[in-house]
Formats: sequence, structure tokens, C-alpha cells
Amino acid sequence: MVDAEGSHEALGRAVIFLGPPGAGKGTQAVEVAREYGVKHLSTGDMLRDMIVRKTPLGLEVEPILKSGRLVPDEKVLQIVEQRITQDDCKQGFVLDGFPRTLPQAVGLDDIIRRCGWERPLVVNFVLDPKLLMRRLTGRRICKLCGEVYNVHERPPKVAGRCDADGGELVQRPDDREEVIAERLKTYEAQTRPLEEYYRGRGALVDLDGAAKPAEVAAQLSRILSAR
Ligand code: AMP
Repeated sequence: MVDAEGSHEALGRAVIFLGPPGAGKGTQAVEVAREYGVKHLSTGDMLRDMIVRKTPLGLEVEPILKSGRLVPDEKVLQIVEQRITQDDCKQGFVLDGFPRTLPQAVGLDDIIRRCGWERPLVVNFVLDPKLLMRRLTGRRICKLCGEVYNVHERPPKVAGRCDADGGELVQRPDDREEVIAERLKTYEAQTRPLEEYYRGRGALVDLDGAAKPAEVAAQLSRILSAR
């Protein structure tokens, strides 16, 4: 990943982080994006931003996110196509939380083909569902900078406050237990089949998502440099 001069090769392609909610995709995507100087694109973050800004689409999707179900494919595909065809994605990008259904994966393939990009690399975060519930119920996010904590695994130094800027740490409305159960069910029904879709094309690499963040980062580093 890093050459003798300490600089990085560009990713040069789409890297898809596939895995259930709470697998640690977001945390790792931030690091990879920083390291390679590429964009971290989280469809969940984009949708939440539209909700905060009360855009027409934001108002439309708010109840869907609250319920733990999925936003319709054509809407998400439109958002993603518009974003990844911008100039700042030419060096590659990390997709976190997209694609989540087969039609989204097929739609992404189509965009990638039209843009003449290389085939995407898919990193599959594998971990036990019991661990996911613990991670998601413990997740807290800084209201100011978006830094992610976990009351069990990565607590802040002062309870309820961000280490970096003292911002209030809040829970995502869909990180309540009953909504988490719905999100995990949705994952099994709609997203899990993508493993076979990508594995069949030889584009998928499994990663142990239950390991400590530093170990996961090391696994990722190996996967990306061996690509
Ligand atoms: P996330 O932050 O990835 O856990 O996403 C939060 C919520 O946003 C999901 O539970 C969905 O309601 C919605 N969402 C995010 N990404 C997608 C997607 N690719 N397709 C459909 N809905 C999505």
C-alpha cells in the first residue's frame, strides 16, 4: 500500500465494503479513504444528511430509515451515480453501505462499465450476529464531528463527550434494539445474496470483522495491497 517514498498508489477503482450493520465498515472506510486520499461514500450518511437538511428526498426517506427498511433502489442508485461520476472519484472510492440489493449491484456494474472503470474489489466483513447487536446498541456518535464511539469497546474518556472536541455523543435513532433487529433481518433477506453475486465473479475477499479495529485495518491493508 505504501511505497519506499511513503506515498500511496491510487486505489484506482471502487472498493465495496460489504457486511451487516455494526460490522465496522464505516470506521475502516474512513481510514482507508484517508490513507489513499480517496472519498468514503456512505449512502446512510448521505441519506441522513438529506434528512437533516429537510430536502424533499430527505423528508420522503426519513420514515424508511427510522423503520430499518431500505430506501427504494432507483432512488439510491440515482444518488450514487450522481456522486461517483464527479471528478473527485476518478482516483477510486470506498463504498460503505452500498450496494445493498441485487438490483443496486447490477446498476453499479452498469455505471462502472459506462465509466470504463476497473471491476470493483469487494471486501466482505464476516462476523457473528450476536456481536452486531452489542456493537450497535453501544454505538454513540459525536454530534459535532461524527466520530464514532462504542460504550463497550471504545468508550470516550469522559462519558457522553467526544474526546476530540467535547461534542455531545448521541445514539442514532435506528440503533435502538427493535430497529436493529429489523435492519439485521433486512440484511439477511436483501443484502446477504450479494456475497454469492460477487464471489461468483471472483471479486470478493472475506475479512474477519470480529477482530480488533487495528487488526481489521491490518487485514485490509494486506487485501488492498495484494489486489
Ligand atoms: P447505514 O448507515 O448504512 O446503516 O444506513 C442507514 C439506513 O439508510 C438503512 O437502514 C437504510 O434505511 C438506508 N440506506 C443506506 N444505504 C442504503 C442502500 N444502499 N439502499 C437502501 N437503503 C439504504
